[in-house]
Amino acid sequence: MTRFIRFRRSMETITISEPKPEHTGNAFLPPVALVSLNQDSSAEIRPIVIEGNRVREGQLIARGVQPDCTRIHAPIPGFLRSFKNIQGPDGASSLAAEIVLSGSFDILGRKEENYQWKTAPESEIIRILEDKGVVSTFDEPEPLVHLIRAAKKHKKTIIVVRMFDLDPTCQLDSFLAEKFFVQVVEGAGLIAHSINTKEILFIHDDKKEDAFKESKFKELLGTIDPIVVKTDNRYPSGNRKQLILAMDEQFKKRNMVFIDPSTALSAYEAVVKNKPVLYRHVFVSGPALSRAAVLKVRIGTPVANLIMECGGFSTNPSRIVINGLITGTSVLDLSTPITKTTKSIHIMDKETCPEYNVYSCIRCGRCLQVCPMYLDPMELVEAVKNDQITKQIAKGIDACQHCGCCTMVCPSRIPLHHILSDAQITGKTGALQ
Ligand code: SF4
Ligand code: SF4
Repeated sequence: MTRFIRFRRSMETITISEPKPEHTGNAFLPPVALVSLNQDSSAEIRPIVIEGNRVREGQLIARGVQPDCTRIHAPIPGFLRSFKNIQGPDGASSLAAEIVLSGSFDILGRKEENYQWKTAPESEIIRILEDKGVVSTFDEPEPLVHLIRAAKKHKKTIIVVRMFDLDPTCQLDSFLAEKFFVQVVEGAGLIAHSINTKEILFIHDDKKEDAFKESKFKELLGTIDPIVVKTDNRYPSGNRKQLILAMDEQFKKRNMVFIDPSTALSAYEAVVKNKPVLYRHVFVSGPALSRAAVLKVRIGTPVANLIMECGGFSTNPSRIVINGLITGTSVLDLSTPITKTTKSIHIMDKETCPEYNVYSCIRCGRCLQVCPMYLDPMELVEAVKNDQITKQIAKGIDACQHCGCCTMVCPSRIPLHHILSDAQITGKTGALQ
């Protein structure tokens, strides 16, 4: 299937070939899981097991040194062979626990539980979400309880659920919102209940209007009011700023907690099914892959295992892209493990994603025309490269939404949004604020 992605500004479109994701269930268990201890923005996480220990499926193996940090559990039973440094899917290096599969399962095959969240105390839901290690993957990953506790300090918080993908090439969140509608809506409901808020805004991108009728949400949420909002499907439409623009005026000044279907589903599994975050759904596709699939994958499973499970390479691969072709990152190592924040893997071929050189800017102005924030990406990037960051430039860098539109259209292949993102992360602009 061919899909056209229309940019919010300018008449430019990009065309991508998009296979329809098929849900094929559980991925094979990895013989060895590499579990990164750096799953989100949590402060320092420390292991609480040592090399040579036996670990049970779901056993807590690492926790933060501060409150609100994400807890890490053993995704498979086995023995902990070593701790080693790895490069995660986001390119950051971290310590990982290497667990070799052996022994019996405590959670797999257990009788399904069905915890009644609507009558549970708020504090109990928060305790469970913390205990099970749920991470928010709406944008920058962070522990969900961190967001919930911050929201409880405000009056009249509203939950905002984006029912589609931030990067449309990712496809996973749109898929989960439809395929696991009940679980996603209940997951959002229990998060709202934990904050004691009675309103949830569900924002969809106009493609599945029939599937997202307000009455369907109401049936599942009891006393919580669903408000269904439609946004257009120009890119970008899923970041905070664009979602706020799509809302009715009465909501725009409220304190908001933004979540995506992946987070809502994890919250549902943690609270209703009493399961720690041991796996996640990942959409695996791309022109160099034999077949596309959405797989339920144990955390720590290497990318190579998923490629094998999808029939292997159909042709020579040129690049592996994690979490979307527009905003994602490339990885080189097939042993890169799945983390709590991995949503998609694209295996690209040489025809659709050739090796390319980066050329000098030809001043075509296309990046300027396409930027939804009305920034001049090239001016900002040149200032970063030349270390000439004025207050005005710093303001521009901080306004960047990292949507990647500029990079997508640049004929010189300059990785504009990656450079701006690095400048924000490394705090190059901070001193001037
Ligand atoms: S990544 Fe930043 S600079 Fe580039 S188009 Fe998006 S908002 Fe503009
Ligand atoms: S799109 Fe690329 S080549 Fe054109 S002005 Fe922007 S940075 Fe320069």
